[in-house]
Amino acid sequence: MRAQVVQELHHLTLDGSTGEGGGQILRTGLALSMVTGRPLHITRIRAGRPKPGLMRQHLACVQAAVAVCGGQAEGAELGSQTLWFTPSAVRAGDYHFQIATAGSCLLVLQTVLPALMLADGESQVQLSGGTHNPMAPPFDFLERAFAPLVRRLGVGLDLQLQRRGFYPAGGGELVARITPATQALAPMDLLERGPLHNAWGEALVPGLARNIATRELEALGQRLGWTFEAGQLRQPPTRQNEGPGNALIATLEHAHITEVFCQLGERSVSAEQVAKRLVDELRAYQRSTGALGPHLADQWMLPLALAVWRSGRAARYTCTEVTQHTATNAQTIALGLPVQVQITAVERAMQVEIQPAP
Ligand code: ATP
Repeated sequence: MRAQVVQELHHLTLDGSTGEGGGQILRTGLALSMVTGRPLHITRIRAGRPKPGLMRQHLACVQAAVAVCGGQAEGAELGSQTLWFTPSAVRAGDYHFQIATAGSCLLVLQTVLPALMLADGESQVQLSGGTHNPMAPPFDFLERAFAPLVRRLGVGLDLQLQRRGFYPAGGGELVARITPATQALAPMDLLERGPLHNAWGEALVPGLARNIATRELEALGQRLGWTFEAGQLRQPPTRQNEGPGNALIATLEHAHITEVFCQLGERSVSAEQVAKRLVDELRAYQRSTGALGPHLADQWMLPLALAVWRSGRAARYTCTEVTQHTATNAQTIALGLPVQVQITAVERAMQVEIQPAP
């Protein structure tokens, strides 16, 4: 009886309908299970979404988690709303994950990264699928905004884009090299952006008319005062076999943080409208003093929480807003790791503080 109680306490039990009720609870849950060795039981998966349960994208994350830790999964089927996941020891190594129907490579990478960055050796993860998907971090964001923060914890994270893959065709390829920290992860505070060193916009239009990019960049330039002459409006080369797809991306390089904002073009949305949406995102970031934008704020929380847990030292960051996504992630992390996450309002920003549990 006692053994059974202990066993149940040891499980990480998550209700997938909590807060936003989306796929992030699953991905964070899998990552927490792998790094702590606690079996995961998750119910009501994606109950907050119109089509609840595991979709191909989420199944790819479960399968990747099973592969890196030799784990076992029950309920890993399309549409399943319940999953039992039992991790075994995480194995550094070479992995190749193919994500069907242009699911996001980056979301699969973020599922296995926490485990592989704490593994006992280097890993190389090759991913095929989407690199620029709606509702997912685009490659450029991971490379310029997220990966540099992970490296500041002491982890080696090198990302190489081999081919872009846009939703719905997919066909993208990237390779991530992950070298675990040689010492305990080093959590750090990120409270201020620091001065703006560089800012630019770029339009990707592989497989589509080039004038879409020109119109997007001109509209962006008009609203922000950026020019082609100053190198602030760019049209990077694309490979022949990429696309079709369109992304308009803005990068703000501050002294302490680089933020990347991205809008994907859609058939029924004009180039000018895509530019306006991106400008709205940038303006929202500029109105606040928070160091991290809304997406980085939810994605940075797990790597930082791992560093707090492993080092026993608290850390903080400021962000422009705490989305429901971020709040849900905070709840999930506090259930899976011995840390406390406190969110408070500060002047023109929000502050997230992660402390080791007493
Ligand atoms: P579903 O919502 O269908 O359950 P999901 O879990 O894959 O699927 P979300 O829960 O919305 O989708 O998670 C998407 C993740 O992608 C979040 O971490 C979010 O911050 C991130 N994301 C979405 N758009 C961007 C963007 N433009 N830049 C960076 N990150 C993004």
